[in-house]
Amino acid sequence: MKLLEDMILEKGKVINEDVLKVNSFINHQVNSKLMKEIGKEFANHFKNHYITKVFTIESSGIAPAVMVSYELDVPLVILKKQTSSTLNDDLYQAKVKSFTKNCEYNLTLSKEYIYPDDRILIIDDFLANGEAARGAIKIVETAGAKVNGIGIVIEKSFQPGRKLLDDAGYEVYSLARIKSLKDNKIQFI
Ligand code: 5GP
Repeated sequence: MKLLEDMILEKGKVINEDVLKVNSFINHQVNSKLMKEIGKEFANHFKNHYITKVFTIESSGIAPAVMVSYELDVPLVILKKQTSSTLNDDLYQAKVKSFTKNCEYNLTLSKEYIYPDDRILIIDDFLANGEAARGAIKIVETAGAKVNGIGIVIEKSFQPGRKLLDDAGYEVYSLARIKSLKDNKIQFI
C-alpha cells in the first residue's frame, strides 16, 4: 500500500535492525485518514471471506481494526492482555510472549463474544515472530470458530511470523512488507 509505505519511509524510525518505531502515525499519535484507507484496503481484500467478526489485540491493533470492522459492517472484538492468568470458566486465554516488552501476557477473551460458527478476521499493527497472531488463532480455534484471514499493517518479513502462519495454512495479507531494517535503512520487499 503506497500511502503506508511512503509514510513509513518519511516518518518511521529504525530503532535497531529488529524494531521500527511508528509512534507518530500508528502507535502513539494516530493518523485517522491513513486508518480509513487501511480499513478500506483490508475490507476490499477480505470482502469475500464471509467474515462475521474482526478480532484485534489491545492496544495498537484497535485503530486499524475499528476501520476494518466499520467497512465490513461486522463487530470488532478486542482481545485483552492480562499479566496473570485468571481461573474463570467464562474466559478463553492464550499465553503470548511480547515482542517489544520482553514479558509474557495472557491474551484473554470473554466467551460471550465468540460462537463456533464465527469466521474471524484477525487484524494487528505488526507481525514479527507471530506470537500475538498465534495466541489469537488459538483462542478462536479453542472456541470452535474459524480464522478466515489475518491482516497485518506492517510485516517484518525477515522475522519468522509470516512463514509460520503461511506454513500453518492461514491467509495473511500485509499492507507493508519490510525486507530489512539493516544499516538504519527501511527496505520493502
Ligand atoms: P509478534 O507477536 O508477531 O512477535 O509481534 C507482534 C506484536 O509486537 C505487535 O502486536 C506489535 O505490538 C509488537 N511489535 C513487533 N514488532 C514491532 C516493531 O518493530 N515496532 C512496534 N512498534 N511494535 C512491534
